[in-house]
Amino acid sequence: MKEIDWSKLGFHYTEPDFIVRSAYHDGAWEEPYATKDKYLHLHVSATCLQYGQEAFEGLKAFRGVDGKIRIFRWRENAKRMARSAEGLYMQPVPEELFGKAIRLALEKNMDFLPPYGTDATLYFRPLLIGTTPRLGVGPGRDFEFIVIPSPIGPYYPGKFHCTTFVVNRHVDRAAPYGTGTFKVGGNYASSFRATEPAHAQGMDCLFLDAKYHRYIDECSAANFIGIKKSTNRYADRAQTATLTDLSTIEYLTPRSSAILPSITNDSLMTLAKDMGMKVTRRHIRLEELEEMSEAAACGTACVISPMSKVIDPENNKIYHLGDEPGPVLTKLYHALRDIQFGRAEDKHGWCDVIDD
Ligand SMILES: *Cc1c(COP(=O)(O)O)cnc(C)c1O
Repeated sequence: MKEIDWSKLGFHYTEPDFIVRSAYHDGAWEEPYATKDKYLHLHVSATCLQYGQEAFEGLKAFRGVDGKIRIFRWRENAKRMARSAEGLYMQPVPEELFGKAIRLALEKNMDFLPPYGTDATLYFRPLLIGTTPRLGVGPGRDFEFIVIPSPIGPYYPGKFHCTTFVVNRHVDRAAPYGTGTFKVGGNYASSFRATEPAHAQGMDCLFLDAKYHRYIDECSAANFIGIKKSTNRYADRAQTATLTDLSTIEYLTPRSSAILPSITNDSLMTLAKDMGMKVTRRHIRLEELEEMSEAAACGTACVISPMSKVIDPENNKIYHLGDEPGPVLTKLYHALRDIQFGRAEDKHGWCDVIDD
């Protein structure tokens, strides 16, 4: 076993032993292979460097309470990466190859899979880049698919807590019908000038739709969820949703042509429906935060990151959502994590269980 102090493992990158690679040349993918070499021999004119032909993914493997390893919904990540690839004129990675590469990355780095009880997980970062040298503007014909594993510590080392979010009307993450629905590095690079100043103040960013700056889009790496009492639309937000009757509770998430379809959001929507909540995807005005009892960002990294407040500096407005995570989001958070760690029945067949 590796000498890793799992309790000290922060929520950051730890270098694994092996990465997995597979190149696409002359119309064919090579068999994925594991290597300790973390450097690429890349032409300076490669289309990933010149024109941003790059897409990535993020998924996790969990050591369960029963000692078994579970990889969560990797086929959804494979499908999403194929969509991102098509969106950037790249060769999609076949689902089977994607799965093989993840399995190989896991097998070769078993020492880095955190034991059950540490709340740490083994994160996989699949990456697809265009490698054809090309100075004339256009897409390449050659690609490289890489899987980088990394053990990561718990997102909430202490207790599940809230974060303050800030709206920035001077920076848009992605344009309507732009690349917002693809998981591409360019979306991140272009939002750093909003996210970095926010992070420096201990906050996260909430982006609005780029056309009107009226509707909630998403966060830089996470979708938005709002919780509302559906029977009483204009209920005072102090009237916190209770868990006595979940059928009166509405799970809201934005409809937009600029947001990434989050697999965590999809899973939480399914669980919310299972619990009897009403799940609605529609345009959500920023001011509707006033009518919500709870709100959060959601993604693979954090699962759920509840919002304590949302600051809208241009309008001199603060939406208060509560200093502690609310009951509905807390219930959803535990429900999903219990499935991932094998503590609850996986009714929807989300986990690939692997014996080692
Ligand atoms: C990765 C990502 C998410 C979260 O997606 P998950 O599949 O839940 O991890 C949300 N928004 C953006 C912009 C992302 O890049």
